[in-house]
Amino acid sequence: MYYSSAEHYVKPEDMNAMDRILRVNQRIDFPLREGDILKSGSHGAQVTCLADSCRWPRAVDGFVYVPYIISRQYEDMDRITIETGMLDISSATCVKFVPRTHEPNFLNIESRTGCWSYLGMTGGSQTLSLQSPGCMWSGVAAHQLMHALGFVHEQSRSDRDYHISILWENIPEDQRDNFRKYETNNLNTAYDYSSVMHYGRYAFSEDGGPTIIPKPDPYIPMGQRDGPSLTDIHKINILYNCD
Ligand SMILES: [Zn+2]
Repeated sequence: MYYSSAEHYVKPEDMNAMDRILRVNQRIDFPLREGDILKSGSHGAQVTCLADSCRWPRAVDGFVYVPYIISRQYEDMDRITIETGMLDISSATCVKFVPRTHEPNFLNIESRTGCWSYLGMTGGSQTLSLQSPGCMWSGVAAHQLMHALGFVHEQSRSDRDYHISILWENIPEDQRDNFRKYETNNLNTAYDYSSVMHYGRYAFSEDGGPTIIPKPDPYIPMGQRDGPSLTDIHKINILYNCD
């Protein structure tokens, strides 16, 4: 058991996308990596999505089309929230989310239990869950869409130890795996505290103590509520070779 979401320590209006995700996902009883990434059978060993096979392909017109279908169970307001998350990415990058017609590889957006996604393109139909109402923020939608585009959490970057301290003593032993560091391709970008992919200060906390402290300035805010940061957008443009 972990508190994860910081709901006891952080005012609801101050919760970032990941805080909101962890709050909902506490109820999930199947294994998720880092709280919201589903392991895929097809490239289960692939932990950072560096290979081409994990990225959505670029079309001849230079755009990267990500086809999706969206469950009819959503109400109009939910649909608008999800589409806002898509638009926050597509309006500033060459990645375009398009309703699926006949494409073999696509996102199947459904309201299952929790907010979660696979990492990168898995091939075929891949579910991306945005539970209504728990996950109905455009920033949460953008967070899961970025996982589906191949991005991991910001604090799992290979260079994270220069920018944050992990307070291991405040993390229950069975949750410490959620703070692993990976060999990531950082795309020549600076570490981004304001990434929509960043954990909050109290993620997976055992007893309410902080689990991540920025350094050297411990008061730098971490994470993002509204949507992708400028650096998130920049990274999508680099990973997908947008012009
Ligand atoms: Zn995530």
